[in-house]
Amino acid sequence: MNKTKFLGPKVYLLIFPAIALVIVSQCITFPAKFNWLLVIFLISIAIIERIYMHLFNKLWLPYFIIVIGLIIFAKHSILYSFFYLVPDAVIIWLKRKVSIWYDLLPSLSISLITIVVGNSFYNWTSHSYISRLETLLLLFVINWVLAYFFSFFESGKLTTSPVVSTFIPSWFEIGVIFPYLAVFNYFSYPVVMSAFLAYLIVVKVCHSRRMQVNETHVRQLISLIGTKLQLQILLMDLGSIKGVYYPNKRLIVIDHKLDYPEQLDTLVHEWIHCELRKYKKSPLFLEEIWVTILEAVISWYYVFNLKRIFTAGGYK
Ligand SMILES: [Zn+2]
Repeated sequence: MNKTKFLGPKVYLLIFPAIALVIVSQCITFPAKFNWLLVIFLISIAIIERIYMHLFNKLWLPYFIIVIGLIIFAKHSILYSFFYLVPDAVIIWLKRKVSIWYDLLPSLSISLITIVVGNSFYNWTSHSYISRLETLLLLFVINWVLAYFFSFFESGKLTTSPVVSTFIPSWFEIGVIFPYLAVFNYFSYPVVMSAFLAYLIVVKVCHSRRMQVNETHVRQLISLIGTKLQLQILLMDLGSIKGVYYPNKRLIVIDHKLDYPEQLDTLVHEWIHCELRKYKKSPLFLEEIWVTILEAVISWYYVFNLKRIFTAGGYK
């Protein structure tokens, strides 16, 4: 199964603002003189970023780390991060009128917790290139873990789709952006801007590729997997579940309410489960991690090779 149900009250989401309040009040420092250029820059970045925000869910795309990462290496990063995070939250609220208590404050708090932990960690290190790279990776991991809890408390479900849909942008961040940012031990406007624009381009390309997946592609993949691997694949209403697999019956069922890129991901996900079940049974948690990584690689391979793999009349 791709999702498990959990009846958790949303009130757990208030844990995030509570933690953020305590650690921010303990760790925040104030400069003798404000850097107004940095303040204006951060507000501008928040607005530009928000224009692109319809592409992916904010929490699952921590590119604020690109901006915040370099502030971490400068002084008073916790204070300055407010000039980035608060305008961002205000724009979200104006656009979507989301719940302040159960959406806006918890997501703002997740960003603040990430920044405080990253800042404390960096202050404790030797301030070398490696320690800056480690700090960025730490920010990335903390943000992901907290965002996962947020999503779990909010919807009561665990889902792998954020990992899969942001897989390439995330690896671009880890493999290219972080090693580049870590060269600098101070906040440089051209560095932050160039990293930010490169990242936006990658996100835009990946997103438009994913959006090209249509019904024909999904049907052709069903036919491809079905005939080559002797698997029966059905599309039907599964309620809140995305997909189910029955390895003994060689049967996979996908929820037909999902959009086409998600149908493709889920099909690949359940197919990998079925194949792994042929081999030694591993603990469910470990299997899910493996399946998610393989799903991301295989799904993105299909997304970037739609034209080559699928044709109008069938698959090659
Ligand atoms: Zn699964």
